[in-house]
Amino acid sequence: MPGSRRNPPRYTPRVKPHDGSESGASRRLAWFAEGLPFACQPDCGRCCTRHGDYDYVYLSRDDVRRLAAHLEMPVSAFRARWTKKDDGHTILKMDGPACPFLDGSRCSVYEARPSQCSTFPFWPENLASRHAWDELATFCPGVGKGELIPLHVIRGYLRGRPSS
Ligand code: SF4
Ligand code: SF4
Repeated sequence: MPGSRRNPPRYTPRVKPHDGSESGASRRLAWFAEGLPFACQPDCGRCCTRHGDYDYVYLSRDDVRRLAAHLEMPVSAFRARWTKKDDGHTILKMDGPACPFLDGSRCSVYEARPSQCSTFPFWPENLASRHAWDELATFCPGVGKGELIPLHVIRGYLRGRPSS
């Protein structure tokens, strides 16, 4: 899920690797306390494509280790082949119109995908307000679809820990 270095009008705000702490959106009694409906839609992949400046997939050290292991590469080789530095952060090289791991509309490294991807769309920026969430729905067709994702699961995402 590419993020952006700028403040975007919708979707993919500035995203930095999670530090494990709860955000303000999670600590407060949230507007989403009743849960939120969400279901990623098949054959979509919109959030894995570049759009304007939105092309940042930040990688934590764990992300790098996990992806390198998944691709059966040494970490150093993975870093050299697939990553670059931006403002002190490790990010995926995005030389094409989409994430290099996007295969058609599916993620080819799904089991090892970065935390930024596995926690989307439940990012603090997207949950900052009902308005931000509604704005996201104009980009991500999964927002508002499917079963209600309960608050405790959303809080897990906000801490960078997807439930499954
Ligand atoms: S790693 Fe997978 S989920 Fe993340 S942006 Fe790339 S294709 Fe999408
Ligand atoms: S439904 Fe949303 S989360 Fe799923 S691939 Fe499309 S844009 Fe991404």
